[in-house]
Amino acid sequence: MNLLYKSTRNNDEKVTASQAILKGLADQGGLFVPETIPALDVPVEELARMDYQQVAYEVMKLFLTDFTDEELRYCIRSAYDSKFDTPLIAPLVEKDGANYLELFHGATIAFKDMALSILPYLLTTSAKKNHVTNEIVILTATSGDTGKAALAGFADVPGTRIIVFYPKNGVSPIQEKQMVTQKGDNTYVIGIHGNFDDAQTGVKQMFNNRELCSAMDRAGYQFSSANSINVGRLVPQVVYYVYAYAQMVAKGRIRNGEPINVVVPTGNFGNILAAFYAKNMGIPIAKLVCASNENKVLYDFFETGRYDRNREFILTSSPSMDILISSNLERLIYRIAGEDARKNLQFMNDLSEKGIYTITPEMREQLSDFVGKYASEEETAEVIREVYEAADYIMDTHTAVAAKAYKKYAAETGDPTPTVIASTASPYKFTRAVMTAIDPAYDSKSDFELVDELHRLSGVPVPRAIDEIRSAPVLHDTVCGKEQMQEVVERILGLR
Ligand SMILES: *Cc1c(COP(=O)(O)O)cnc(C)c1O
Repeated sequence: MNLLYKSTRNNDEKVTASQAILKGLADQGGLFVPETIPALDVPVEELARMDYQQVAYEVMKLFLTDFTDEELRYCIRSAYDSKFDTPLIAPLVEKDGANYLELFHGATIAFKDMALSILPYLLTTSAKKNHVTNEIVILTATSGDTGKAALAGFADVPGTRIIVFYPKNGVSPIQEKQMVTQKGDNTYVIGIHGNFDDAQTGVKQMFNNRELCSAMDRAGYQFSSANSINVGRLVPQVVYYVYAYAQMVAKGRIRNGEPINVVVPTGNFGNILAAFYAKNMGIPIAKLVCASNENKVLYDFFETGRYDRNREFILTSSPSMDILISSNLERLIYRIAGEDARKNLQFMNDLSEKGIYTITPEMREQLSDFVGKYASEEETAEVIREVYEAADYIMDTHTAVAAKAYKKYAAETGDPTPTVIASTASPYKFTRAVMTAIDPAYDSKSDFELVDELHRLSGVPVPRAIDEIRSAPVLHDTVCGKEQMQEVVERILGLR
């Protein structure tokens, strides 16, 4: 059976998996969703004996049905290799009464590597399958982590170029240093005077600009996206929730069939949507706890049914979640609107014109698996210190938002369900915020002194990704206004 993908904004647009990966975004700004979510066809007891790559194959083959076995196995083998600092790829560690699924063992030490280490292979394979001869231009907006992970994945990949826009004053110093030191002849990194939502909106506008796209086509280029709107990112993210459940069983932390809760620190809603897909494939996930920082637009949405981005954008210590327009929520809205593209389009138009929409009570009823929780800046710092003192485990700020959300949820409900917390970044990526949470006195030290202190305190080896940038030269220093993004892209591609 060939699984097709349809657009959330137009029921007539249907494409294969490889075409969806190539296009990134559907026409009219829609997102591609699978026509149905396939059921797992391997029992959990078998999955529990498999390594990460094998589980990846069993999950992805069901979504990417137009890839041959060899193609898919090649993509998986090339992605999940020694770029990761552990053969487990995504270790599940039990600390302080929860199971932390560590998704940060890849090349750029954030969970974005889980999908972006495979996306270049999926994309170049898709291009071959569809006889694409244009050079593929990956156009990406980043709140800090996608950018570096995409740059690392696509650097010097033949037939591709990658252009990354990031909010100049909205990322951590280590995140910025990681991006502006990126090597590769096909890489471009640009800071914008604006926030992540501005960057994401600018990128979406270019995707939807027909004139620009035909000028590119004439010059031998076409866009694709490395953002979590691309199904080539969503599908690999489903894998680790299936893997986590199988590992919970393998380690005897639960019985096969026993439900778990999942807590996900959320920004663009891609990671938690993948958990929802895993649930729909048959993994017994009870609650999906959506954890927000002070930009708690999703918390308010789950509480009230009203999505309202008209509010102040707050810069927090978990910058990869500083987002007011969570793109992937559209996939959920479409689904609870009965897969009605017209209805969904109305909500999305309201969002872009008025910044607000309210779903119907019938739609809200279908959200009963989701719980919204949030953590303030103070609570985030507090939980980092608490878990360090209780369990000698140092987590990053994003994971801390989730840990706090979990503690709040558990205290309010008394729900004893075993819980997996998605741990989305290495503490080394947000060293200053993490170390000052443990002791404010650390603030007087330099970023790399803090790296060494963190090493001393945690005993965790300093990741290669950090050692690499200690003395790396800055190779990208372009900064532009949010109105000039298209102009910059046209210059890079020689279109003006
Ligand atoms: C991107 C990111 C998130 C948010 O993930 P979404 O899929 O956008 O919801 C959370 N934590 C870290 C460290 C990230 O890089």
